[in-house]
Amino acid sequence: MNEGKIAAKAIREIRINPVVPGESVLIATARSLRPKKEEPPVPHDGRPHVDTCPFCRGNEDRTPPAIAQVPPSGEWRLRIIENLYPVLDDDQQNPNLAFGLQQTIDGYGRHEVVIDHASHGVRVHEMDEEHLNLLFSTYRDRMAALYGANPSVRAVLVFKNFGPAAGASISHTHSQIVAMPVVPYNIESEVRNSAAYFEKTGHCIFCSLIDEALTFEATFYDRESGIVRRKISVGQYVIERGRRFIAIKPFASRFEWEVQILPLAHEADFANLSTEDVADLGRIFKRTMARLNSVLGGVQYNFFIHSLPHSPGAAGRRPSYHWHIEICPRTSVPTGFELGSGLFMNTISPEDAAARLRSVEID
Ligand code: AMP
Ligand code: ZN
Ligand code: ZN
Repeated sequence: MNEGKIAAKAIREIRINPVVPGESVLIATARSLRPKKEEPPVPHDGRPHVDTCPFCRGNEDRTPPAIAQVPPSGEWRLRIIENLYPVLDDDQQNPNLAFGLQQTIDGYGRHEVVIDHASHGVRVHEMDEEHLNLLFSTYRDRMAALYGANPSVRAVLVFKNFGPAAGASISHTHSQIVAMPVVPYNIESEVRNSAAYFEKTGHCIFCSLIDEALTFEATFYDRESGIVRRKISVGQYVIERGRRFIAIKPFASRFEWEVQILPLAHEADFANLSTEDVADLGRIFKRTMARLNSVLGGVQYNFFIHSLPHSPGAAGRRPSYHWHIEICPRTSVPTGFELGSGLFMNTISPEDAAARLRSVEID
């Protein structure tokens, strides 16, 4: 590609997150800007077993006892344990010691680790679909159990860190589940803003985004020159489509390679995932992760599940909230600009990233 072409195609615009309008993204694709330091890819350690790893089979005595494992006895394929260093726990040492503007909320909570697979170095796109189905149904069952165990749990967050750039401190494949006494701000603003959209339009904004991704088609011309300014074509943002799930590249992607997976049918609560859903989700997730891994030559990422919280009044948000998975590959380091402004900066056009993700060959 010559420089002229790149310059002509460069985008520098602020895109508004349709769900949370206060969260904007600066898309700045001009090569000369290079505003961010890129994360170097790290070599992947694919060893199936590491003697010193606390999450490997045979080292079970290096973790707290299992909450559950599959199968329940013998060689486990997946194991859920208490976190040895929980961010939240149920031993409240200083309840209600608020002073002046120093207000606190009791830190009741639970923090569990899911050892995703017995093989130390297996990556999610290398797991077979059946194992991914087990993983997602485990998340669902633990989320339901944690809400059921204590009525003061307001939100359960399932997330995974993979790779040092994503903050992972243990390389054995694992995910985490945190039950919290508050609804975190990110989830709360999605719930609140989608409810406002519903009140205005009578529609779930996430369902509308899916419809738009599947059917929207428009060309914007410059009024004077007639040059095409933006073309939106059918499926431009769709990365994968299954019978029950869709993987979409958000128009206002905060991360260069961010992808979100949503159920096609409206559903607010991840805990309602059916057996049929699980099967399709495993497949779409595996294919999406394989695409990311292939395009990036090894992907370091966080993903998390946003599901309807259990705050007072949340049940009334069932028609307007739509659960989803946000996958955030970590390819660059956030800068002072981002921390200071709260404006994410993305140096790759989401349309180009989506095209590259779709075009890559996977099995
Ligand atoms: P990450 O930092 O994303 O790699 O997550 C690893 C998690 O495992 C952290 O939340 C740690 O607190 C937790 N952890 C570390 N060592 C152990 C262990 N031996 N048993 C249980 N949890 C652990
Ligand atoms: Zn291990
Ligand atoms: Zn919906």
